[in-house]
Parts: sequence; C-alpha cells; structure tokens
Amino acid sequence: MGRVVVVGSVNADLVVQVEVRPRPGETVRGGPLSVGPGGKGANQAVAAAVVGAEVALVGAVGDDAHAEVALTGLRRAGVDLTEVAVAPGATGTAVIVVTPDGENAIVVSPGANGTVQPERAADAVDRAPDGAVVALQLELPPATVAAAVRQAAARGLRVVVNAAPAATLDTAVLAACDPLVVNASEAAVLLGLDTVDDPAAAARALLALGPRSVVMTLGAQGAVHATQGSEEVRGVTPPRVDAVDTTGAGDAFVGALCAALADGRDLHDAVDLATLVGTLAVRRAGAQASYPDATEIEEARR
Ligand code: ADP
Repeated sequence: MGRVVVVGSVNADLVVQVEVRPRPGETVRGGPLSVGPGGKGANQAVAAAVVGAEVALVGAVGDDAHAEVALTGLRRAGVDLTEVAVAPGATGTAVIVVTPDGENAIVVSPGANGTVQPERAADAVDRAPDGAVVALQLELPPATVAAAVRQAAARGLRVVVNAAPAATLDTAVLAACDPLVVNASEAAVLLGLDTVDDPAAAARALLALGPRSVVMTLGAQGAVHATQGSEEVRGVTPPRVDAVDTTGAGDAFVGALCAALADGRDLHDAVDLATLVGTLAVRRAGAQASYPDATEIEEARR
C-alpha cells in the first residue's frame, strides 16, 4: 500500500441547491442547507484513502463548531490527523451553490487554513515516510505551499501539485511537480489565456513551464497527460454518467491519482484510475459524501 501525505486545506462546506445562481444584487431562494466536510486537501486525502493508500494530512482547523464537521470524513476514512493543528478562530468554510446541471459556484473563506506556517509544513514533510507522495493544492498560503514543495523535493519525494484554486506558480514549485494537475480553467490561468481550446497543445504549453509532467482534467471528457522528454500527449476517456453534482470531482481525481502513483503505477495507469474515480464522484451530491467506496470502484473497473 502506498503512502500519501497531503499538505492542504480542511473546510466545512455549506451547500445549497438553487434553480439559478443569483445575479449581482439579486436574492434567490435555495433548497435545504447541507453542512458537510470539504476543502481540497481533506477531499484529496479522503479520496486517496478510499483508493487504498495510507494517508496523513498536514493542516489546521479552527476551534469553532465547524471543525468537527470538517474532520468527519477524514476520521471515517482513517486518515492520520496527527499533523492537523487547532488554531483559534474559524475553520475554513466554503459557501457553495449548486444548479440543476450539477455545476457549482463557490466562495471560500480560508479561516484556520491561513494559519498553516511554512516552517510547520516543511517540518511535517521532513517527517513524512520515505517513498511518500506529497500532494498540495493552493488553499494554504503560497509561502507554505512553496516551503512544503521545497522540503519534499530536497528529500527526493514525489510532489503532486494541484494548482487549484487557479493561480500562477513560481518556477521552483513548477519544476518539482510530477505531475502538475489542473483543470482547463486553471490551465488557462497558468498559460495566460482566456480559454483552452486544444487540450493537447495546452498540455505541451504547460510542460514548457517546467513541471516534470502534466495532467489536465477535462470534465466529462476525462483527462490528458504529458511528460517531459516525450512529444506524446495521451488521453483517458471516462464512462458516461449522469452528472448530479461535480463538487469535489477534481479532488477525487487528484486523491486517486496520488494513491495510484504512491502504489507504484505509471502516470497513464494512475490517470486512468483517477478519471474513473472522478467520474464516479459526480453521480451523488456533496464532495466527500459523493466519493465511491472501494467496492464501487472495483465494480466499475470490471
Ligand atoms: P474540476 O472538478 O476541478 O473543475 P473537471 O471538471 O475537469 O475538474 O473534472 C475532474 C474529473 O472529474 C474529470 O477528469 C472526470 O473524471 C470527472 N468529471 C467531472 N465532471 C464530469 C462529468 N460531467 N461527467 C463525468 N465525469 C466528470
């Protein structure tokens, strides 16, 4: 079983279904409020554990009522929470509205995620087991992400960076990514484009920014990947499913990808599994609540 150390965010997700998203100045009536565990770091940690990795999370929650909710999925999945600090103040919180087509719009308030200091993240990565895959997203402070990446690279640990929410990355962070994982809109931000029209061309352009490899997710179209030293861009097409709620699908993808890489699979096999797990996660509402269990993944792979 592979080991994955996620350095990332833990949030409580406040989710409301709406018929249409409110326009500026408008108030719309939504369905019942659901409060559940989320945060890109926590979601990816849970997904990696579901796929069978031994997972630890480095991060922080607040000392408010949302902290326990935010940790429920991690506890259930058996993620090691030794490196999750409790900071005074609010737990990270995401306010999410979901429309009937399964699309979401999200506002994130970082709360305790903003208190994770670079030194603490680097120390935790220093204590990570040999051979662990270190997974990062961009919901912690940029200096914290950079310090964790630097420490992981210094130890020769494999680094997976999911550049989400969309932001540009400094050269040292980019150079350590193996792979850099982005969706199409995050790719556009990194490339300074309005949109990505040609996924293969975008994957090559992302490689030119310096990461060792790149994975770009394409929603219902699956994902493409490319590696330095090869001209080839390979793709994986997922099975067709009815999308109910895509919240957390990208995180399911990244968590599963890290677990597969930690287990020693090559990038194509890992993207193949990640695409399947991401796709299975759009069939139900919620982030972690939508993730398939090991039995569902096995059945879908037959
Ligand atoms: P994000 O959720 O980060 O915006 P994507 O939309 O590219 O990223 O989705 C990530 C992964 O989730 C995809 O590669 C795919 O596996 C799965 N997925 C997302 N949307 C759908 C969909 N409508 N149908 C099937 N799979 C989907």
